[in-house]
Amino acid sequence: GAFLRIRGVAKTYAAKDGSSVQALTAIDLDIREGEFVTVVGPSGCGKSTLLKILAGLLPRSAGEVTIGGRPLAGPNAALGVVFQAPVLLPWLTILENVLLPAKVQKLDLATARARARDLLAMAELNGFENRYPSELSGGMQQRAGICRALVHDPSILLMDEPFGALDAMTRETMNEELQRIWRERRKTVLLVTHSIPEAIYLADRIVVMAPRPGHIVEVVEVDLPRP
Ligand code: ADP
Ligand code: ADP
Repeated sequence: GAFLRIRGVAKTYAAKDGSSVQALTAIDLDIREGEFVTVVGPSGCGKSTLLKILAGLLPRSAGEVTIGGRPLAGPNAALGVVFQAPVLLPWLTILENVLLPAKVQKLDLATARARARDLLAMAELNGFENRYPSELSGGMQQRAGICRALVHDPSILLMDEPFGALDAMTRETMNEELQRIWRERRKTVLLVTHSIPEAIYLADRIVVMAPRPGHIVEVVEVDLPRP
C-alpha cells in the first residue's frame, strides 16, 4: 500500500489585491515506503508549494494527505525537511543546530547526540561540531541542514532543491551520500530538483509537473541498475 497518499490536493494563494493564484490543482500521488521520488518541472509549476503542504507548513485549499494511513495535520515527527537555503540558528553551534529536532520532539539526548555526531561525520563535518554557522562555508551549512533533517530518524525526507547552492563537486558528493543513506536506511524520499540528470540518477520514479495551474503531467518509472 501507499505510505504517503496524496489525493486531490489543490492550493490557491490569495493575493493582497484580492486576486488569487491557483498554484496547484488535483494532485494525486501514492508513494511507497522506501521509494525515492524526484519532482521536476519548470519554475512556477507548484513544486515548492506541494512540498510545503506535505511538510505541514502550508495549509492546502483542498484534498487529503495521509502518512502511514494517518491524516496529515501540521508538522509531523515522521518527516524531515530540507529547503534550498539552510536556516541554521546563528547563536547555536553546528551540533546544537543539528540537535534541534531531537530537542523539539523530546528524544533521548544522549542517543540523539551520538546520532548527530555520526551524521556530521558522514557529511564530512567532523571537527566543526562546536563551530558557529557563520564560521562554515555555504556548502558546509547546507550539509549541516541535511544532518538536522535526519537527526530524529524521520521515515520520510522532503527536500526542495537541497543542493541548489552547492558547487558541482559538492553536489555530486552529496548525491552519493544521499543515495547511500537511502539505501542503508530505506528512507522514503521526495526530492524537488532542477536537474534532470540528478532526477534520473537518484529516482525510482520521476514526477513531471507543468504550470498554470500546477499539475502532474506524467510519472516516469526509472529502472536503472543500482550500484
Ligand atoms: P515552483 O516551486 O515549481 O517554482 P511554486 O510552488 O513556488 O512553484 O509556485 C507555484 C505558483 O504559485 C507560482 O505561480 C507562484 O508565483 C505562486 N506562488 C507561490 N507562492 C506564493 C505566495 N506565497 N503567494 C502567491 N502566489 C504564490
Ligand atoms: P522557487 O522557484 O525556488 O520555488 P520562487 O522564487 O518561485 O522559488 O519563490 C520564492 C518564495 O517566494 C517561495 O517561498 C514562494 O512561496 C514565494 N513566492 C513565489 N511567488 C510568489 C508570489 N507571486 N507572491 C508571493 N510570494 C511568492
